[in-house]
Amino acid sequence: MNVLEVRALSKRYGEEHAVDGVDFELAEGSATALIGPNGAGKTTILSMLAGLLEASSGNIQRRKGLSIGFLPQYPKFFPWLTALEFTEMAAKLSGVDPKKARQQAQKTLEFVGLREAAGKKVGGFSGGMKQRLGLAQAMVHQPDLLLLDEPISSLDPSGRREVMELLKSLQGQTTILYSTHILNDAEEMTDQLLFLRKGNLVEQGSLAQVRSRYAQPQIRIRFE
Ligand code: ATP
Repeated sequence: MNVLEVRALSKRYGEEHAVDGVDFELAEGSATALIGPNGAGKTTILSMLAGLLEASSGNIQRRKGLSIGFLPQYPKFFPWLTALEFTEMAAKLSGVDPKKARQQAQKTLEFVGLREAAGKKVGGFSGGMKQRLGLAQAMVHQPDLLLLDEPISSLDPSGRREVMELLKSLQGQTTILYSTHILNDAEEMTDQLLFLRKGNLVEQGSLAQVRSRYAQPQIRIRFE
């Protein structure tokens, strides 16, 4: 069953087609990587799916009652709040019962590996800690679908591995769509690969399908 279906989705800025007639589906519980170089249209697609940006044409069919969590590429934090206060606020804003928001925030911070840092001010957090906190705010309401805009791009190799492990542990329960410009990241955790180039999907399928089409162990998709 699909949680989301995207049909002929386009976004134009003046004459420029940031996204140009894109079609894909997200099956329940699947992990999909949206792969493309800078400017390919990844953020534009994720923002439209998150409901933050209006499409120029096409449509997005969301399963009835679908809840969505979104991690922007550059999340905004309030440095004067503690991680727990920030996550609790995110919980309340995303509809968690206010009586349960603190407990849910604590549980989520634990899940993303920030239990020790829960009482610390966000202003002193490293990039990796902020990325985990961003993930916590995106998933504190236990959404059906997680949209993650380059969740690991700003991390060092060990941070990347840790966040990928976290995401892997969600695989099967939560539907995940995440963007990256590095194919190696996607190989770790995907049921579906979507290759985006200049607003168009130039290739899509499972890793095995894409590999077999290219009949070689290393996929070489030309972006430019
Ligand atoms: P990156 O990896 O650098 O984040 P991306 O794949 O997420 O890139 P988008 O940010 O979606 O790409 O941008 C797609 C195209 O749309 C780019 O050419 C960009 O310049 C253009 N674009 C995005 N937002 C706007 C805007 N507000 N006004 C005009 N053009 C825009």
